[in-house]
Amino acid sequence: MKKNPHIGVLALQGDFAEHIQKLEELGAKTYEVRRSSDLEELDGLIIPGGESTTNAKLEAAASKFHSAKPDRLPIFDAIKARAVKGLPIWGTCMGSIVLAKDIEGSKQGRIGLMDISLRRNAFGPQRESAEISLDIPELGNKPFPGIFIRAPLFLKAGNKVKILSKLGEGFVMAREESLLATAFHPEITDDDRVHRYFLGMINA
Ligand code: GLN
Repeated sequence: MKKNPHIGVLALQGDFAEHIQKLEELGAKTYEVRRSSDLEELDGLIIPGGESTTNAKLEAAASKFHSAKPDRLPIFDAIKARAVKGLPIWGTCMGSIVLAKDIEGSKQGRIGLMDISLRRNAFGPQRESAEISLDIPELGNKPFPGIFIRAPLFLKAGNKVKILSKLGEGFVMAREESLLATAFHPEITDDDRVHRYFLGMINA
């Protein structure tokens, strides 16, 4: 693994600060990402938890504002362009929604690169937030404390997608080449194994 990888966290809205803290603890150099030029130095990008419709609106508004500047691509388009060239990207909860190609019953704005289909808010409202012990064989035998806050459930996966953790009739962690998605929030636990796993993807 590269010694001090440069990792950006999309910082339009949501819990980007918690990811930044975890990444710094693991020795990464971190960047808050708000515009396309913030992506230049990055070895990897995290799209945090938050509210996907709010992020889509913020990104649409910013795109309009910057459209006069040809050198400034809207941030979702800029991320997509880097992802296609292999930039490792990890979406947590809202981030997984923004990465997914298919969001059940919704046309909301997204990056839409990962071949998964999901249902938003599948675990119920905020008050039904829960910690669920997850089996993630790739991270070892010890169960992972999965924190679910108005989380999506992943329902279908294309044939290049590797399912890393199943739950109920669906799954909650998956990888498609350099894209990683978790429906839960490792950034607000003491367990750093998913962050380490993502850092491990960077030079793989
Ligand atoms: N329910 C939110 C959405 O659909 C995601 C919540 C989260 O990221 N914790 O965008």
